[in-house]
Amino acid sequence: MCGIFGVRGHSDAVALTKLGLFSLQHRGQESAGIVSVDAGTARGVRSMGLVSDMPLAPLADLHGSMAIGHTRYSTAGSSTIENAQPVLVSSRGGHIALAHNGNITNAGELRVDLEELGSIFSSSMDSEVIVHRLARSTAEKPEDRLADALHGVEGAFSILIVLGDTLLAARDPRGWRPLALGRLNGAPVFCSETCALDIVGATYERDILPGEIFAVDATGERSIFPFATKELKRCVFEHVYFARPDSQIFGGSVDRARRALGRRLAQECPAPGADLVFSVPDSSNSAAIGFSEESGVPYELALIRNHYVGRTFIQPTQATRDAKVRLKYNAVREVLRGKRVVMVDDSIVRGTTTRGLVQLVRAAGAIEVHMRVSSAPVTGPCYYGIDTPSREELIASNSTLEEIRSSLGVDSLGYLSLDGMLESAPSGPDGFCHACFSGDYPTPPPTDPDKLRYGCGC
Ligand code: 5GP
Ligand code: SF4
Ligand code: MG
Repeated sequence: MCGIFGVRGHSDAVALTKLGLFSLQHRGQESAGIVSVDAGTARGVRSMGLVSDMPLAPLADLHGSMAIGHTRYSTAGSSTIENAQPVLVSSRGGHIALAHNGNITNAGELRVDLEELGSIFSSSMDSEVIVHRLARSTAEKPEDRLADALHGVEGAFSILIVLGDTLLAARDPRGWRPLALGRLNGAPVFCSETCALDIVGATYERDILPGEIFAVDATGERSIFPFATKELKRCVFEHVYFARPDSQIFGGSVDRARRALGRRLAQECPAPGADLVFSVPDSSNSAAIGFSEESGVPYELALIRNHYVGRTFIQPTQATRDAKVRLKYNAVREVLRGKRVVMVDDSIVRGTTTRGLVQLVRAAGAIEVHMRVSSAPVTGPCYYGIDTPSREELIASNSTLEEIRSSLGVDSLGYLSLDGMLESAPSGPDGFCHACFSGDYPTPPPTDPDKLRYGCGC
């Protein structure tokens, strides 16, 4: 997963982009980068780690009224500076810069085709195929060049591209990943989530629509829809886990979606007799509040999260992952001692964090632990931009509910149903991808999923 941000026509473009990336840090902590264009020259800075780790001196050299930025999150195997974005190259038509959120599922095939035509790749990212295809297009208008480049590209892409003096924003026809358009003093601002508009003081205008290519240059703004219409497949996991609750995505509030998930969870899987409900901060806070509102069980802060520790998924081995649970969370004994508690989380993937948390909560004195999950069981990998592990590592892929309950060490376990999850979306239940929950994959699985995992753009 990744976060993208861009602005054109603002004298503070670089500073705004850096601010915007701070708000999109949750979408990627592995690397960060910014490319800006000043008087026809594009320059970029990319570095491993957080936005706050970006080196200040090179950043001070970035100027101009157009900039794009990227925060990247992916598997450990592809964690290299070559795979950091935005990509910046020069081609016969001038500079090309690209920031991509999503996964191109036929990148392997497209790459082989390009290599046969003589292309030399400098990274293992799926996104680089778009850059090569852009460089080959002979169309006149930048938006038509991008349409050429994206023709036949399958999978998920919300992208920002700088082509000469033009800033382009595009979203795949299924609308897999979010991409918003805002406005600051007349300048268009593009970002993965609207929380990045708030931080720069921009107003939300609308979403870039599925299948839309939006171009802005010195002559104005243009929009084209060059792709065949496809069934909408917005990622439901964005509402469940990934996006920030203060964002609007897919035309609705993430906070409202998560509260609805929590309320529905309380209806489908109540926990009669419980003394209190708490969240696993931060991603399930809103869902736990929803559960409390619906059930009348009081909401408490029973787990405290250390915000200075990275996400547990980044740790490569099981041993370090276990230690990381205690590094990241601690239990409040005074809240838990002698209580029958409901622990709400947004999802269970491997089960490692959950198992560690249940032990913490019991050690703090809880006498009964009832686990409630505000999504359906995750039973398959994601090929469209979220780094879920392979099927064998997913706790729900091969186990019954009772086996999972016993393995997690909880007194009872309840997951939200697939219908309950989809019906909680502010836009209604239709037009979502739910493949990792239902097995209903909208595209054929990639021919070499492992290669995709290690080569993906985000
Ligand atoms: P598990 O018990 O499966 O090890 O971890 C469950 C936790 O992982 C939940 O709190 C959930 O919010 C979080 N989670 C779900 N999907 C992802 C993901 O793609 N990346 C990260 N870092 N955490 C995730
Ligand atoms: Fe989202 Fe799951 Fe679909 Fe991936 S497979 S896009 S995580 S719903
Ligand atoms: Mg969580």
